[in-house]
Amino acid sequence: MISLKTPKVVVLGAGYGGLMTVTRLQKLVGINQADITLVNKNEYHYETTWLHEASAGTLHHDKCRYNIKDVIDTNKVKFIQDTVKKINKEEKKVILENGEISYDYLVISLGAHPETFGIKGLKEHTFSISNINSARHIREHIEYQFATYNTEQEKDDSRLTLVVGGAGFTGIEFLGELANRIPELCREYDVDHKKVRIICVEAAPTALPGFDPELVDYAMNYLQKKGVEFKIGTMIKEANEHGIIVAKDDKLEEIKAGTVVWAAGVRGNSLVEEAGFENMRGRVKVEKDLRVPNNDHVFIIGDCALIINEETERPYPPTAQIAMQQGETCAKNIAVLIKGQGELIEFKADIKGTVASLGEDDAVGVAFGKKMVGTKASFMKKMIDNRALHMIGGAGLVLKKREV
Ligand code: FAD
Ligand code: NAD
Repeated sequence: MISLKTPKVVVLGAGYGGLMTVTRLQKLVGINQADITLVNKNEYHYETTWLHEASAGTLHHDKCRYNIKDVIDTNKVKFIQDTVKKINKEEKKVILENGEISYDYLVISLGAHPETFGIKGLKEHTFSISNINSARHIREHIEYQFATYNTEQEKDDSRLTLVVGGAGFTGIEFLGELANRIPELCREYDVDHKKVRIICVEAAPTALPGFDPELVDYAMNYLQKKGVEFKIGTMIKEANEHGIIVAKDDKLEEIKAGTVVWAAGVRGNSLVEEAGFENMRGRVKVEKDLRVPNNDHVFIIGDCALIINEETERPYPPTAQIAMQQGETCAKNIAVLIKGQGELIEFKADIKGTVASLGEDDAVGVAFGKKMVGTKASFMKKMIDNRALHMIGGAGLVLKKREV
């Protein structure tokens, strides 16, 4: 039985941060100590970190998702499948599409939205790798271009051009998958491979800015050998129904393309800005215990949170690795507040490494302080992914989701 005084904990979003919070919190508090509610748009969690595969069509989207109720303790956590419309921090309420819910403690873990920097036409004419729906849409759109190409009297070769905006980790990983998928599509739809172009446009002077230059070279050479053309130091200025307009050294160029995928950065969920929290591109600079300054009852974690790495004096990048670690800290701190025992702990990131896949069996990365490339790096990436599944759903989930 939950008494009237039982504190209400509401967790918004069942991504890496939200699920980690809930699965840890359900172990830390007794059934009568907290009334925990998890709200998520879908009944499933998706592995955002695999969406580039589903988008290219190299992995079925069902492999990237699992039922939320399979990993939470439904005796302790109430799951509401609904869409958050508004966070009313003054009244401690969350407005959902189908109702509203009040809270004593709120965890905001609603993930990111694509950052379009106000560039003209991007929202209307490009795709983003954001969730299961967008991944499915990208895959279908690409396949449609190939499936219908040969049916036209006057063939438009630009329909077989694919542009990826941004050579950050998302862009590079998606290119790796595309490079493997395109030969399959060419075979399936009798399309001449020579007519297909995969172009990556990157504004910075290098791909994967800030990453180890030797690993960047490896990744670029690998992808170039598979047919990817890089336009480095080139900025996307506009998108329209024909493709994109780019600029390099003040010179404009039009690239006609049937598919443009914008993978050039993210910002925090817009609900965070709309709620009136002080933020930078939708990310709130939280205290070390992950609470919002002057809002002691609100925790923000994952891609909506901003924490400065004191070693580099730059914000930690928005990653699943960090979101999960923040979920653990957040759960511990909520348990302390609820029980009124112990001390709040500070979030400490423990970055084990970063590995970018280059398709099914190649990758580049640094893990446990060691640089690695090729099958070894690819194996490491799979181990990291499996670990994330294991932390939330145990060995059963790993076996269900991976062919190990
Ligand atoms: P998410 O995991 O995105 O979860 C947010 C949840 O909130 C979702 O379930 C969503 O449905 C829900 N939601 C959103 N809006 C609403 C709403 N209005 N109402 C209800 N529910 C809502 N990071 C790594 O560390 N390693 C990687 O290898 C890696 N690979 C990546 C590959 C790709 C293609 C992409 C796009 C990102 C990758 N990242 C990786 C980054 C990583 O995925 C994110 O940093 C991570 O998902 C953030 O976790 P989160 O909990 O903040 O949000
Ligand atoms: P990002 O911000 O890391 O990279 C975006 C890239 O787009 C940058 O290189 C930027 O210079 C470029 N860009 C921006 N505007 C542009 C323009 N107008 N024209 C051309 N290029 C432009 O974003 P991301 O790759 O989406 O990654 C988001 C987060 O997810 C990051 O924190 C990343 O580390 C994480 N992530 C991690 C992995 C992994 O660990 N394997 C994989 C994917 C994403």
